[in-house]
Amino acid sequence: MIFGYLNFFSSDIGIDLGTANTLVYVKGKGIVLNEPSVVAINQKTKQILSIGEDAKQMVGRTPSYIVAIRPLVDGVISDFEVTQQMLKYFIQKTQPSKFSFSPRPRVVVGVPYGVTEVERRAVEEAATNAGAKEVYLIEEPLAAAIGARIPVQDAKGSMIVDIGGGTTEVAVISLGGVVASRSLRIAGDEMNEDIVDLAHEEYNLSLGLKTAEEIKIAIGSATEINEKLTYPMRGRDLVSGLPKEVIIDDEFVRRAMSKSIKAIINSIKTTIEESPPELVADIIEKGIVLAGGGALLRGLAKLLNQETQTKVYLADDPLTCVARGTGVVIEDLDSLRNVLLASALRN
Ligand code: ADP
Ligand code: MG
Repeated sequence: MIFGYLNFFSSDIGIDLGTANTLVYVKGKGIVLNEPSVVAINQKTKQILSIGEDAKQMVGRTPSYIVAIRPLVDGVISDFEVTQQMLKYFIQKTQPSKFSFSPRPRVVVGVPYGVTEVERRAVEEAATNAGAKEVYLIEEPLAAAIGARIPVQDAKGSMIVDIGGGTTEVAVISLGGVVASRSLRIAGDEMNEDIVDLAHEEYNLSLGLKTAEEIKIAIGSATEINEKLTYPMRGRDLVSGLPKEVIIDDEFVRRAMSKSIKAIINSIKTTIEESPPELVADIIEKGIVLAGGGALLRGLAKLLNQETQTKVYLADDPLTCVARGTGVVIEDLDSLRNVLLASALRN
């Protein structure tokens, strides 16, 4: 009886600990938190000033002693202390704090495919120290596929391409596991840098990364689009040192990002080449599914379809795929245990 009562307050959760964004799914509720994976720190005192949305607003706008950092780089923890603090803050934000006796939650966390044992342990420890009772890890491509409602346990091959901030993960999945995969350190963030670089080269304009991202989302595309889109690109003239505005169009942004897009296309082609022929036949039949924020780039699905001669679909709400996948697992942990990774802490 008492346990049933306690259970009522135990909100098991699924976490997509992304390079760019962290999402938290609470059992029985859905996604309740979606914030940038950014932490602002006072370097003089080492004090954390803000986390998440508030911290992202500070990027590029802080006095020199305040730094807004991303504790995850290329999908893995680069700053353990800060990641732990960030996780703790996000987990606690989703828990019913009024009940001090409420049991600690069970947590499913998505980690990139192919992370090392050391990296797995780091995630498990961070989540445990942040208040988790038990931590389960799931490979992100699997979580994304589950979130995209692909029947991952079937003996049929599916291809999922998750284009996040730091990495693009291409994976072929069958029987609840990853059969072939590629991880590329070129994704959404690199596209922002591409825009900064071309602004510098072509207009001698120094552009902030956050502004570059706004430009990408506002007028970026992977293939030519029907209407011409323009955007007032604002930064600092590198010659005069004064503010400068240049009106750019979608062609400029496409040109800037073309190398990164090509790299993504190549990693998809290589993964197909490396996949067993039976699974390639399944992929041709079912198509390639795109997830992650980068999948939202205009015309990307169309370009990939042309380049791979295979149907390409955008998952519903690609930014939340991994989080929803961890949610499906936390809702039904017992029957989905076989998609989880072995614990690096418990062995
Ligand atoms: P991560 O899993 O690494 O946290 P996300 O899946 O949250 O990454 O995706 C973040 C990336 O998606 C960022 O680089 C962001 O600029 C990009 N992004 C978000 N929305 C769009 C959009 N509409 N068009 C193009 N890129 C987008
Ligand atoms: Mg992701």
